[in-house]
Amino acid sequence: MNPKVKLGAVAVLAVAAMTTPTAVNAATPADSAAARTASAEPPVYAPPDAESRSRAVTTANATLAARSEAVLKGQNERFTLTRNISGAYGLQYLTYARTYRGLPVYGGEVIVSTDRAGELVGSVSSGQQSRITIDVTSKVDAATAAATARAQLPVVETVATPKLLVHAATTTPKLAWEVVVTGATAEAPSVLHVFVDALDGSIVDSYDDVHAGTGNSYYNGNPVTIQTSGSGSSYSMTDTTRPGLRCGGQNGSAYTGTDDSWGNGSGTNLETACVDALYAAQTEWNMLSAWLGRNGFNGSGGAFPARVGLSAVNAYWNGSYTSFGRNSANTRQATPMDVVGHEYGHGIFQYSGGSGGSGNEAGGLNESTGDIFGALTEHYANQPAALDPPDYLVGEEVNLTGAGEIRNMYNPSAKGHPNCYSSSIPSTAVHAAAGPQNHWFYLLAEGTNPVGKPASSVCSGPTTLTGIGIQKAGRIFQAGLNTKTAPWTHAKARRATVAAAKSLYPSGCTEVNAVKAAWAAVNVPAASGEVSCP
Ligand SMILES: [Zn+2]
Repeated sequence: MNPKVKLGAVAVLAVAAMTTPTAVNAATPADSAAARTASAEPPVYAPPDAESRSRAVTTANATLAARSEAVLKGQNERFTLTRNISGAYGLQYLTYARTYRGLPVYGGEVIVSTDRAGELVGSVSSGQQSRITIDVTSKVDAATAAATARAQLPVVETVATPKLLVHAATTTPKLAWEVVVTGATAEAPSVLHVFVDALDGSIVDSYDDVHAGTGNSYYNGNPVTIQTSGSGSSYSMTDTTRPGLRCGGQNGSAYTGTDDSWGNGSGTNLETACVDALYAAQTEWNMLSAWLGRNGFNGSGGAFPARVGLSAVNAYWNGSYTSFGRNSANTRQATPMDVVGHEYGHGIFQYSGGSGGSGNEAGGLNESTGDIFGALTEHYANQPAALDPPDYLVGEEVNLTGAGEIRNMYNPSAKGHPNCYSSSIPSTAVHAAAGPQNHWFYLLAEGTNPVGKPASSVCSGPTTLTGIGIQKAGRIFQAGLNTKTAPWTHAKARRATVAAAKSLYPSGCTEVNAVKAAWAAVNVPAASGEVSCP
């Protein structure tokens, strides 16, 4: 049941097949929608060629110029392309950062999506809610802002140089200093972004890059194959085929060894924890490509390191790496597939679309994103029941405090979390606030009465829903996330995923209607401007 010996650099074949799938050759530069209509099985992983990528930039630039009113762009504003990724079927997503009189605008990003050829615009979204018409002369100096921000954390390691910007994630854009304070809260590490009003010194907003989860054990079969690197008598738990992915202790260095065997199968052994963390991360990466058409955790072929041995009953993503602790009994490391998948899911959230924004509603959607990626990874791995089989429970092997799983996606209320959206979600703790979207995802993927899986009930509307399968559900979810804007809300997530379903599956209405029905079932109603079908 537990892993013992792990092999490294052998499995390069699987990666080569992933990064240059032969199926891509079957797709022409023509619109993927047409290709999908003509062929039953179009390639999901189909990155556009350089010409189509360049065409998308031209198209998006022209769109921004033509729709400057719609995205509330004023004369003193400029857009800069900061992210250019493709997703399922090669659809393209271009994220533009905004400046106002040369200052960065937090929350002002615009995301333009196009078809695979880069010719047709699928959607244009921006989080900005009001025009910016503010003076950019600060009345609070940087040192004062830094001191205010520093006081927000009980334990401070570093305070970054304050950056003057326009905070435009609300209806009232403000001149503000953004100060990043690294340290810890009473419970967990923290990389806190604090926005200090540059006119009156008050705190406008804040958000934490650290998204803590809770975890448990170790287990992916014995032996499993993981990608490592090295030769002769010098090896490292560094996956050179997925740039940025490595695993080691809390100092950030990858574990090394004189041979390519890793771990001893013990739940308390940290090298074994890295075997499980790497195995899960590599499986998730492969899932992103094969099922969602995404190239790596950051969408551009990049991964992030993992650290084990955190001295806490917890696991977290801190904005640039994942870190895993242990269960309360200190018998297992918190590196099962769904927990690892969850923490890297926070990285995917951060690197999709624009900013996520602050607050518990955005935080709950971020936590749910982690849970969805954990479930997707387990389903892709499809391990037998004796290991960690595919399910929609989070961390069920833990038994962290004797309470089994920490979240339940088909019935969040089983763990005391809300099953559906309500006006109290913005004031609900983030892990509980994951409930409505987790429930939505289950209803979309599996429906209310799936064969061989748990039933799930609705909060309103028709009591019977038919699922479209987890692969399609995941594809639609990721495509919606690619158009994320600050602050991310359930209403926006509904609008984005409905539009995504239409872009990904343009030839019918089954997927669009399933997405709508699942949102309605968790009390997220249609809003104006929603894509209709047919
Ligand atoms: Zn989390």
